[in-house]
Amino acid sequence: MTRQSNPFAQRLLDWFALHGRHTLPWQTDPTPYRVWVSEVMLQQTQVATVIPYYERFMARFPDVRSLASAPLDEVLHLWTGLGYYARARNLHACSQGLVARNGGEFPEELETVMELPGIGRSTAGAILAISRGQRHPILDGNVRRVMARVFGVAGDPASKAVVGALWTHSDDCTPSHHVAEYTQAIMDLGAMVCTRSRPACTVCPLNERCVAAREGRQAELPGKKRKRVRPAREATLLIAQTAGQGGSLVFLERRPALGLWGGLWSPPQFNSSQDAFEWCLKEFGDIAQSRMLAPIDHAFTHFDLRLIPLQVFCTPSGKVDEGHDRLWYQLDAPPRIGLPQPVAQLLERLRTGGMA
Ligand code: SF4
Repeated sequence: MTRQSNPFAQRLLDWFALHGRHTLPWQTDPTPYRVWVSEVMLQQTQVATVIPYYERFMARFPDVRSLASAPLDEVLHLWTGLGYYARARNLHACSQGLVARNGGEFPEELETVMELPGIGRSTAGAILAISRGQRHPILDGNVRRVMARVFGVAGDPASKAVVGALWTHSDDCTPSHHVAEYTQAIMDLGAMVCTRSRPACTVCPLNERCVAAREGRQAELPGKKRKRVRPAREATLLIAQTAGQGGSLVFLERRPALGLWGGLWSPPQFNSSQDAFEWCLKEFGDIAQSRMLAPIDHAFTHFDLRLIPLQVFCTPSGKVDEGHDRLWYQLDAPPRIGLPQPVAQLLERLRTGGMA
């Protein structure tokens, strides 16, 4: 397919004009900053979930400078529930780098954008295509699916050969004009028509040229990843609770910047309840009462985690101070800090007495 005559793109653009999404919040005033934040939020997260987070984020951080000057805790607080918190940490670090080195301006070259932490080739291409109209192909999850089906690309989707073939098709299909609309259109088609389990081929603008539709292979394309056994881990979560002036308090620590839930706040984790008890006695002195709560199961990308909450009621001695990386979280007046979603849910259940 030559770029001059590109019926693939034309059909898609015609479809987009009638059926695509035109009122997404990041489509209003699509500056590089606004598109960047949306693209990062949309990695691994559905549009409907992202919208309220995006609107709150933009209301608080309308530009790169406001994001760069905010405390990381506040950025993570607004991210609580979206998951994949490295995305928020990278956004924050990038914004500070852009202000320090580039006067707050977003780079114009694809290679420079790809050097920013957390931004791969597809995200960089989407940002520059949508905000600046530059011609770059993209290959997010939706586009991979459409390309694999339309061109009949089978095989392990993580393999170099398949990824290379999909990029080539995506590049060939990307038009020279109306790139911003095309980029939104191909993402919309994947999300709204060429869906994973029930593609709506009869109303798809690409059905006449689609290998999967012609050969009835929608279920087998794209190919499946080879299944690996997911490792499982278990940890004890120490819920140390005490009575404060303003109500019930729970002890939290900030997790190390690198690693699981990096920079977020959580009750301390231990390898066993025995370790948790020993630490608790050392830190807080007497324990008035303790009990195990129902386990919390959480799936990470590469493993499953089972947290077993051990609730202890204590009356800490004066030596237990708050500090940079530890605080007493007031259940009825929560501070604006970043919490992993399972911890946020647990604290809310403690607040409402759902665990009493
Ligand atoms: S015809 Fe069906 S399988 Fe092919 S791109 Fe359209 S929705 Fe997807």
